[in-house]
Amino acid sequence: MNNADLVIRNARVVRHDGEFHGGVAVKDGKIIMTGADSALPKAHREIDAGGRVLMPGVIDPHCHLGVKFPYAEDMRTELAAAASGGITTALLYIRNLKPSYIPFYEERKAVGEENAPIDFGFHFGIQREEHIAEIPEIIAKTGVRSFKCYFGYEPDNPIGIVPATDGWVYAAMRILAKVPGALINVHCENTQIASWLKNEIKATGRQDLGAYTESRPAFCEVETIRRMIFLAERTGCSLHLVHTSVGMGPVLAAEAQARGVSVTVETCQHYLTRTCYDKDLDMRAKISPPLRDQEEQDGLWRGIMNGSVYSLGTDHVPFLPKKGEDLWTEFPGVVSFPWELSLMLHFGVHQRGLSLSRLVQLNSAHPAQRFGLWPRKGNIEVGFDADMVLVDLDEERTVRHTGKGTCIYEGWKLKGWPVLTTSRGAVVYENGAVDESAYGRGRCLSVPA
Ligand SMILES: [Zn+2]
Repeated sequence: MNNADLVIRNARVVRHDGEFHGGVAVKDGKIIMTGADSALPKAHREIDAGGRVLMPGVIDPHCHLGVKFPYAEDMRTELAAAASGGITTALLYIRNLKPSYIPFYEERKAVGEENAPIDFGFHFGIQREEHIAEIPEIIAKTGVRSFKCYFGYEPDNPIGIVPATDGWVYAAMRILAKVPGALINVHCENTQIASWLKNEIKATGRQDLGAYTESRPAFCEVETIRRMIFLAERTGCSLHLVHTSVGMGPVLAAEAQARGVSVTVETCQHYLTRTCYDKDLDMRAKISPPLRDQEEQDGLWRGIMNGSVYSLGTDHVPFLPKKGEDLWTEFPGVVSFPWELSLMLHFGVHQRGLSLSRLVQLNSAHPAQRFGLWPRKGNIEVGFDADMVLVDLDEERTVRHTGKGTCIYEGWKLKGWPVLTTSRGAVVYENGAVDESAYGRGRCLSVPA
């Protein structure tokens, strides 16, 4: 066989469906062989994994870039942070307030490809009625088949998110139900109840993080999840429940799946590792939906372990430094790219016995399958893009955040870290640094069919 570009050998290769000892050969950005070390060809670059774990790169299907900092800058800084965390594909939920998404898409794709060190793609937020009518054209001209509706934001929210109505969701679902692979993503929180409770709790003068959570309690999210599942069942549209923070989320989704509804649950690392009553957290740990209590967290872990949580996403959003002055006007959101894999290795694999294959399902195979990237991304198999992460399960390192945004894990010592990341066969992260030549190498995966 001809020489490969890259061979990684002597690895514990973990996929969503099992594992083997051996390695991988890569040529022209694709995996051309997997198997025993002795069967692998010579390569331009050969890496001895030293028995460490080699997994498909993490597909983080949930982040927000270019919200407060310039988009071009975020695509460099944040996706470099992502590469250092073992992420090889990032999908952005982005919003455009103009009537058409087409010019916006062209610009975001072009600027992204000038800057990103890893591959990326888009979900589009429905922000006005015209966007619903435009869905068929958006799909034809951009390849984006994943749309998001937002509840949980009051009409005058400082982020500028235009909240959905049930009418918008229903109308969008009716269109998307007819398109293979298309789906609606919903931020589930009952805004009307949350607004009422917010005014009550705000009047007490409370400024602790728990007050924010109690102003938008778990039942608000459960109510909207139920309503969205009802509409998905009614219309036949696929539904993805983003950043689910309540233990009932995976339970309700599993019940609906049993009736044949296509509904999947995403949760985020912060809901699995933090509660709103953690003593060291204050209003700067405000996130939407909020961090919850131990009971909800336990429910989410049950979903992780029993399969009813479908996938993980960070909801990574770099905002300006938080002020810490007023709970009710503080911006919600935290950053998580550099630690998202480590958090799951530490709290999932090491502490709870989560299998690495199940983690690969949550992090790679399932997001790829749900968002139209399969069979190109999300697996270590011949023909797939050579997006991989080499992990040292035993390395212990302390979280030190130096980038943009708010980190809620500062000083935590985590066990299990990514040590090397490849994007389409190029080593983009190793020895603690992102390769400078990787910027502008990332490609937009949202393209017309
Ligand atoms: Zn989000």
